[in-house]
Amino acid sequence: MIEETTITRAIVERYAEKFLKGTRSDVCVVGGGPSGLVCARYLAEKGLSVSLFEKKMSLGGGIWGGGMSFNKVVVQKASLDILEDFGVGYEPYDGVHYVVDAVELASGLIYAASKAGVLIFNLCEVQDVMIRDEGVTGLVVNWTMVGMTGLHVDPVAVGCRAVVDATGHEAVVCDIVAKKTGKLELKGEKYMWAERAEDGVEKLTSEVFPGLFVAGMSVAAVYGLPRMGPIFGGMLLSGRRAAELVAEALGRTP
Ligand SMILES: Cc1cc2nc3c(=O)[nH]c(=O)nc-3n(C[C@H](O)[C@H](O)[C@H](O)COP(=O)(O)OP(=O)(O)OC[C@H]3O[C@@H](n4cnc5c(N)ncnc54)[C@H](O)[C@@H]3O)c2cc1C
Repeated sequence: MIEETTITRAIVERYAEKFLKGTRSDVCVVGGGPSGLVCARYLAEKGLSVSLFEKKMSLGGGIWGGGMSFNKVVVQKASLDILEDFGVGYEPYDGVHYVVDAVELASGLIYAASKAGVLIFNLCEVQDVMIRDEGVTGLVVNWTMVGMTGLHVDPVAVGCRAVVDATGHEAVVCDIVAKKTGKLELKGEKYMWAERAEDGVEKLTSEVFPGLFVAGMSVAAVYGLPRMGPIFGGMLLSGRRAAELVAEALGRTP
């Protein structure tokens, strides 16, 4: 017989189990946009334990709205193998540009990351980092609702061996590290120049502080790259590159 308090117990017990697992992960990915989801999935497939924190209710970041809320996005050829890997369809536009349905892309990336075993914590906002001599060793997180309501509630800490800042334009984790250590500089994203930005965002995906990697638009924020508008290939490629770099740093062969 269906019973209400059993429903409550099932939710709380299973969520608590998941959260406890997430208190010590190999990698914490911050931000569930395209770069974070791709990075998290590839890391989980390499056998690493991965927790992903997303402050909003739904994942997908800037994908859903496409360009100016027309829910189609564009990718370039170099990223097509990632779409195929995630089972996301695309159609050629002119041999250079390919069009992808934004809803299929967002849901495909979320589904694949979840199926790969990434522990996903939505409605969890990253507010700070833990730093020791060796570098970043964890995150300080709280329910997004606490920040929204201005309640005076302390956050809690989760540990990991590497953090990926995939928070998009704001580069939230890098910004915190820059302000609190003075050992990282954010140059800030520049004017639009899609080709240069798409190329740079993959190439400059890197470890920017011991234990802290950047992926996606956060790369542009740290390195002062141009913006690129609603072309998403660079986000996917940067996510995959970040996964390769983190895996290498943690001793997993790519
Ligand atoms: C206002 C606006 C302007 C845009 N301008 C451009 C542009 O100029 N050029 C361009 O290429 N694209 C732009 N985009 C499109 C799009 O955001 C990006 O190209 C693409 O989605 C970036 O992918 P990403 O993975 O780097 O980050 P995003 O898709 O931005 O995902 C980042 C995720 O991190 C989450 N997050 C942020 N802070 C925290 C935190 N503290 N804790 C937990 N989660 C957090 C966010 O909620 C979000 O889901 C814009 C989008 C918006 C909304």
